[in-house]
Amino acid sequence: MINQILPFSCVDGPGSRLVLFMQGCNYQCKNCHNPHTIGLCDACGDCITHCPQNALSLIKPNNKPHIIWDSERCSQCDTCISVCPKQASPKVLHYSVEDVLGIIHCQHHFINGITVSGGEASLQLPFIVELFKAIKASTSLSHLTCMLDTNGSLSLTGWHKLLPFLDGAMVDLKAWQQDTHRYITGRDNHAVFKSIQLLAQHQKLYEVRLLHIPSITDYEQEIEELARYLLQLGTGIHIKLNAFHHHGVANEALIWPKCTSMDIENLAAQLAKQGLTNIVLPSTFI
Ligand code: SF4
Ligand code: SF4
Repeated sequence: MINQILPFSCVDGPGSRLVLFMQGCNYQCKNCHNPHTIGLCDACGDCITHCPQNALSLIKPNNKPHIIWDSERCSQCDTCISVCPKQASPKVLHYSVEDVLGIIHCQHHFINGITVSGGEASLQLPFIVELFKAIKASTSLSHLTCMLDTNGSLSLTGWHKLLPFLDGAMVDLKAWQQDTHRYITGRDNHAVFKSIQLLAQHQKLYEVRLLHIPSITDYEQEIEELARYLLQLGTGIHIKLNAFHHHGVANEALIWPKCTSMDIENLAAQLAKQGLTNIVLPSTFI
């Protein structure tokens, strides 16, 4: 189940990358910038009459309701997404591994690799394992690196299935303290720490991402412990600082303060003072 395929991106891993945004997430982040990637459509049909282009319809093959999206008619106004009560999208499409390989074959001269993102991509682990395995086995695609952008909730068993075909992962560490992490995401961060450690041990940890939400995230209060933890992961791992903004967010997060360039520079300076040298700053602030 794929929400969107981006043929080129230079912010989702190293170099130029084709990115698959998978549908569905196991976190409920208050700050989610793409909340319509969280849920799965249950074909309730609520969005159909709201579509100004009549691009949506409901079919019931074998009594199983299913939404049909007419991409030719769609004007991408996203009204359907805004009215969906399930944080889903009727524009999600089902692809086979072969379908995606066909798309990658059309782009492979122009990209350095593939990134699978979300939602939480690892919820569709069997698909990702098969896709990455097929890329590595293909004579024309094996030069492409295969990377995962994740919230770090995948079990160690799951990681071991993926590791043989994975070149690297970007992992969000959304808060240091359990309480803060649970407040922001609805889940604790035990699995995230385990994932980060395992990936670092296997030299597959490309980036740890810290989303700074002033007065909400707890990185600054825990700076010494956080820095000590990040330092022991090893050199060469990017520590990417992201700045919270309001684009796409809803409800309570709309009253949270935006993160300014000064906020990010302060956090970066504090981490640098603790000895971190591989800090990557956001290129834009909204
Ligand atoms: S996208 Fe949302 S509103 Fe539309 S049919 Fe699916 S669940 Fe219902
Ligand atoms: S984005 Fe949704 S509501 Fe807007 S035209 Fe397309 S299908 Fe219809």
